[in-house]
Amino acid sequence: MIKQYEALKPEMDKAMMEVAANGNYIMGPQVLELERQLAEYTGVKHVLTCANGTDALTLAMKAWGISSGDAVFVPDFTFFASAEIVSLEGATPIFVDVDERTYNMSAESLERAIASVIEEGKLKPRVVVAVDLFGLPADYRALRDIADRHNLLILEDGAQGFGGSINGKKACSFGDIATTSFFPAKPLGCYGDGGAVFTNNDHLADLINSYRFHGKGDNKYENVRIGLNSRLDTMQAAILQVKLKAFNDEIVSVNHAANEYSRLLSGCVKTPVIPEGFASSWAQYTIQLENKGQRDRLQQALKASGIPSMVYYPKPMHLQKAFDTLTQPQCAGYVSNRLCDTVLSLPIHPYITNDEIASVCSSLISFLEQ
Ligand SMILES: *Cc1c(COP(=O)(O)O)cnc(C)c1O
Repeated sequence: MIKQYEALKPEMDKAMMEVAANGNYIMGPQVLELERQLAEYTGVKHVLTCANGTDALTLAMKAWGISSGDAVFVPDFTFFASAEIVSLEGATPIFVDVDERTYNMSAESLERAIASVIEEGKLKPRVVVAVDLFGLPADYRALRDIADRHNLLILEDGAQGFGGSINGKKACSFGDIATTSFFPAKPLGCYGDGGAVFTNNDHLADLINSYRFHGKGDNKYENVRIGLNSRLDTMQAAILQVKLKAFNDEIVSVNHAANEYSRLLSGCVKTPVIPEGFASSWAQYTIQLENKGQRDRLQQALKASGIPSMVYYPKPMHLQKAFDTLTQPQCAGYVSNRLCDTVLSLPIHPYITNDEIASVCSSLISFLEQ
């Protein structure tokens, strides 16, 4: 983040000072301009910015009227918010396993989960939350096929996926509604919190616009539904406008970095798999070790050499205490359990140098050779 600021400093300082001087701190012109630019970037008709990626998901749930009695299918291996927003609306998250190579939702596991919800007959299957984990878009061809057969909506959680693509089509354009987050650590991050909702549907866009402004009707002081106060600040919009200009170059750079890691590490550990036609925005570069002991010892060894690494994610959704009341015994056999024990995310960003990557890899390889 700091390296990026240094690279963009003159333009960034000018954009931020302009906001400070103009005083339109809420819903200034930069917000609408940014929404238009994000629409152009993704090829999606409507983009509605909001306060964060979690609110963006919540706004989608509200626009579809998801509530008690509805089943929403969520990957078992993701950030908590992807599932939290389902329970927050009173609906039930059904945890689905992920593919061990791409870390994204497994189509076969989704089929099984839908079949068991239908067989049980208690909940109505409504939505699939497809997460673009670590920057890689989910397998939308397979997921769309299943969703169509069962009349389900797809919510693309592109919090980590913005900037990725499938055959040139950009992430955040695959869901019936898609969302992203501008939290600083995401591929397109601002200097605080922010998020956005994407949809081609005019009616849903109107509803989301109402829900994000306290359920407003024709004007601000006419309230026709219970909503949220969820806006992107003008300051954050101005920052994102500057960052968006540099974004394509950053995606190229971060892909060079990922390729360099994979070149140096192939054969030593399991490196990320990017299917043919897919492109990742590399929110994370995540490898797999043999077992938890080896993973944890490697993380300690890297730390001793001054190399930060992270475990995304240490616990699958179905084992989170907040979901204690949901009993989903099928999850015990999921690949997600093993991934939580074996994954490790190495430092990656567009400004990392080949020397830095080489030094991470040499520490890693010498640990494995011990
Ligand atoms: C970060 C993240 C979110 C939530 O975004 P916030 O802006 O932090 O609210 C949701 N889903 C996934 C997959 C994320 O990584």
